[in-house]
Amino acid sequence: MSSEPIPHGTTLIVRGGRAILPGGNWHEPEVFDIAVAGDTIAGVAESFAPAAGAPIEELDARGHLVLPGFVNAHYHSHDVLAKGTLEEVPLETWRLYALPPQYPPRSMEEVRARTLLGALECLRSGMTTIQDMLTLYPFEDRHLDAVMQAYDEIGIRVVFSLQYADRKGLETIPYWKDIFPQDLHPLLSTAAEPERRIDLLGHFEATCLKAPPRPRVHWALGPSAPERCSSALMTRTMELARRYDVPVYSHIYESRGMALQARLTLPEHGGSLIKRLAAEGALDPLLNLAHSVWLARDEIDLLAATGAGVVLNPQGNLKTKCGIPPIRALQDAGVRIALGCDNCSCSDAQNMFMAMKLFALLAAASDPLPGPPQAAAAIGAATAAGAQSARLGHVIGQIAPGYKADLTLIDMSDPSWSPLNSAARQLVHVEAGRGVRHVIVDGTVVVRDRRLTTIDEDDIYDAVEAVMPGFRRDFAAISERVKRLQPWLDQAHQRIVSTEIGLERIYIPF
Ligand SMILES: [Zn+2]
Repeated sequence: MSSEPIPHGTTLIVRGGRAILPGGNWHEPEVFDIAVAGDTIAGVAESFAPAAGAPIEELDARGHLVLPGFVNAHYHSHDVLAKGTLEEVPLETWRLYALPPQYPPRSMEEVRARTLLGALECLRSGMTTIQDMLTLYPFEDRHLDAVMQAYDEIGIRVVFSLQYADRKGLETIPYWKDIFPQDLHPLLSTAAEPERRIDLLGHFEATCLKAPPRPRVHWALGPSAPERCSSALMTRTMELARRYDVPVYSHIYESRGMALQARLTLPEHGGSLIKRLAAEGALDPLLNLAHSVWLARDEIDLLAATGAGVVLNPQGNLKTKCGIPPIRALQDAGVRIALGCDNCSCSDAQNMFMAMKLFALLAAASDPLPGPPQAAAAIGAATAAGAQSARLGHVIGQIAPGYKADLTLIDMSDPSWSPLNSAARQLVHVEAGRGVRHVIVDGTVVVRDRRLTTIDEDDIYDAVEAVMPGFRRDFAAISERVKRLQPWLDQAHQRIVSTEIGLERIYIPF
């Protein structure tokens, strides 16, 4: 084997790992050296010559699998501190805990601590990019600054959007207004209230989209969900997205209740939120629809025809009793499918290995007939498709010259990898995250030997502990309030799940 000369400008060489390369054999990946110049992959070769002269860092990747860093394409950092707080509850109930406007304003310390903790968990599980669809309520510029500062310091890549809406949550859930006594209505906001004090979208344009670029930050727009946004707001969102060529992330059809609400309130669009979006000119390759569990066949065809994508979040969908997305039907139609881990209060882990495994298993369960192999598809959804969802398909998500050096190295000296029968299948079905050893973002080793290099991890844990008494106090008060609502919540849920929604059976009944 002959060695190639080291590419000009190389600052780091990742030596001798089994690399998941585009077009390569992902079941038996071959060994490669990867040269990094600054923040970019400068070359990939069977072997580069030994470094001489110029100072070049070498990272020994022998016995490691080298992947493009995972892209967590749906995540919210606002409830990181709520992981493990809830058992399995229906989505409409869960949302009363996750984001009620009744929480008192959060401290700067809490905003910083939760942002860092969430980013740390993502990095330690091999994610190099996260799409943070953040609710800051009530909105304060200093909170936004604290979030951006935290991301900058920890060194993760972020596709950042603020979540916004202009309709109250109560208006968007079937039967709630009828079933709950009037005096309880103020307690039923199921997402942060629309910001009335400022034009959040205009403010985001002025302070973010028009601002000088920040390292590792890519902007996006985050209309919460079409049913929570007026047509005017969706139209304005898409105009801005096209003007600045930034992606749009929204939620759709997470629960059966959301499909039912569309049937009840959108007769002019055939009871379909997707057709409403089509009429608003919002179906576009820029658009990503998180969840997409309760899509009808003709809605899937509309997504495929227009290039709009979906972001599946299987962990949260199961825990909040939402169901199984029609993964096989989406695949067969050619819809772009990215993967996310959603809120910490419902998923609860920011762990792409869990998401990939569930993706493969639910794809199998979503069609009883034999289908295509899913391991490589799951890896593609967690990497390249996530990058494409963010308009970054030419920048990240692959290991190739010219792409950003965002790499995850998995130590294969572990029972998960012995014997090595298929790297792709063992990555999806066996590895749970224990093997993530080194993580490189933008050419910098931000996790080395399983420890963050940019910030002292213990400082992050200490900062979290310092704010937890206040968070626990406020969360307990919210929990008491939701318990009072339980009889009506149960009644509404029963009525939602027993109302026919006229959906063609492309799901396994369960
Ligand atoms: Zn979400």
